Amino acid sequence: MEIRELHKSFGDNQVLRGIDLEVARGEVVCVIGPSGSGKSTLLRCVNLLEVPTSGRVLVGGTELTDPDVDIDAARRRIGMVFQQFNLFPHVTVTENLTLPQRRVLGRGKEEAARVARENLERVGLADKAGAYPAQLSGGQQQRVAIARALAMDPQVMLFDEPTSALDPELVGDVLAVMRMLAAEGMTMMVVTHEMSFAREVADRVVFMDGGRVVEEGPAAQVVGDPRHERTRNFLNRIL
Ligand code: ATP
Ligand code: MG
Repeated sequence: MEIRELHKSFGDNQVLRGIDLEVARGEVVCVIGPSGSGKSTLLRCVNLLEVPTSGRVLVGGTELTDPDVDIDAARRRIGMVFQQFNLFPHVTVTENLTLPQRRVLGRGKEEAARVARENLERVGLADKAGAYPAQLSGGQQQRVAIARALAMDPQVMLFDEPTSALDPELVGDVLAVMRMLAAEGMTMMVVTHEMSFAREVADRVVFMDGGRVVEEGPAAQVVGDPRHERTRNFLNRIL
């Protein structure tokens, strides 16, 4: 995935001021930075939930920002997991996984059900197939949200603070699923405050501030021995 000279403004608020970032196939990139620095906006521009003001996003050689590209087809390449799980509350866990496959990918009933089962197994929730979201813990709901995204066969997974709405004792299960995905070679971009996860799993850490990438590099360097004052100040505040 390539992000080139990405800008995004809301009115006269320039939120992204020229982001250049590459995420190689199978690479895990963690994005850190203070509140308001544009992390969520960056992810939302990457999967076109927000239309960039200018710049380009390419996934697997296809330019998503090309006006001639089918935006729905392009978006299917990218799975997204939010802080607030965003499950459909009125249908079962299984239906949360099958409905998007059927509507968006046009899969038949049987295939959608099979893919749903496989992905619930992957996140350790096969036994919750018939439950409704409200009957699950936050950590379980987030794992369903991950399984739902995986059921769409994404080329890239984007995570926006996937554990920050969770009680501390539920964070580990969600991180374990993300670790598994990373180990399987999924290409991932993860906005997170979980520095231990970043250190352990990320191939690269990107520190954003004021809509720009201030510093990027291996996790051990950016988190352990940051070069920039702003990165150091940020890490001092959160660690
Ligand atoms: P946090 O760590 O708090 O989640 P963030 O780094 O994800 O912060 P963003 O949510 O990307 O930051 O917001 C960056 C800026 O963009 C903020 O000033 C915010 O007010 C503005 N912004 C984000 N979305 C919109 C929107 N839909 N309309 C107007 N302004 C927006
Ligand atoms: Mg955010």
